[in-house]
Amino acid sequence: MEKQLQVYIDGKYYPKSEAKVSVFDHGLLYGDGVFEGIRAYDGVVYKLKEHINRLYSSAHMLMLSIPMTREELIQKTLETLRKNKLRDAYVRLVVTRGAGDLGVNPKNCTKPTVIIIADTISMHKDDAKEKGVTAMISWVKRDPVDATSHEIKSLNYLNSILAKIEANMAGVDEAICLDKNGFVCEGVAENVFIVKNGKIQTPPSCSGALPGITAESAKTLAKQLGYDVSEKNVTPYELFNADEVFFTGTAAEIVPVREVNKRSIGDGKPGPIARRLIAEFSKMVRDPKEGITI
Ligand code: PMP
Repeated sequence: MEKQLQVYIDGKYYPKSEAKVSVFDHGLLYGDGVFEGIRAYDGVVYKLKEHINRLYSSAHMLMLSIPMTREELIQKTLETLRKNKLRDAYVRLVVTRGAGDLGVNPKNCTKPTVIIIADTISMHKDDAKEKGVTAMISWVKRDPVDATSHEIKSLNYLNSILAKIEANMAGVDEAICLDKNGFVCEGVAENVFIVKNGKIQTPPSCSGALPGITAESAKTLAKQLGYDVSEKNVTPYELFNADEVFFTGTAAEIVPVREVNKRSIGDGKPGPIARRLIAEFSKMVRDPKEGITI
């Protein structure tokens, strides 16, 4: 029999089929919790510290106290990968409010649930990087920064799910959400970049997009390569008329977009800047200095 993945829940490991939480867990009942998605490449857990810090920031916003130190969580993540003998993997860290009473109030949830899953993920088609993906602007606006915006990486992903359903129905690969002012915000689980006349632009953090760790890497790489990179409001017009558009995300990595709402982007093929960043990014993620070695 194939050996099952071992999932960490609150200090113990369970085979995948037995890895369960209470139906009274407020993570399930109300989406009350936070998470991270992290990749390991050839034994290096890319930007693990940054992901852990973001998890704690999301939890801080929710006044959810993670019952272990950052260092302990790092060590448990590495241990979960070692236990599953995974060197190229996708790790999902989840901390929920824990089990409580029925009713939204988190007051009676006394013990947060900590879950670590180490598995693999595939987000876009195999040829997405070579051919680019199609996208559409969805009618679903991103929640603003004074609501449950994706700045908090919480278990509330309905905003993204509604947009993704629209993309599925329209037969395109991915959805892009605008912010409430009509500017481009982000993809379903990716940040968005455009390139115009050799300049790289991405929406500012006040758009309500998640401060993406891959986006940060793409900006650093692009600056190192000498490109002009700026954060600015991007209109749908600028998106449609960009020379290049690309997504960044832990699961997606860097993916060129070849078409948005049936308008071809540039010549409809991945552009030179996206291709260069993809090549450099694949080196960066394997550099032990950029992460923590299992
Ligand atoms: N936006 C959203 C809504 C996401 O869920 C993700 C994936 N975590 C991203 C952007 C990309 O962020 P990162 O590069 O840190 O994975």
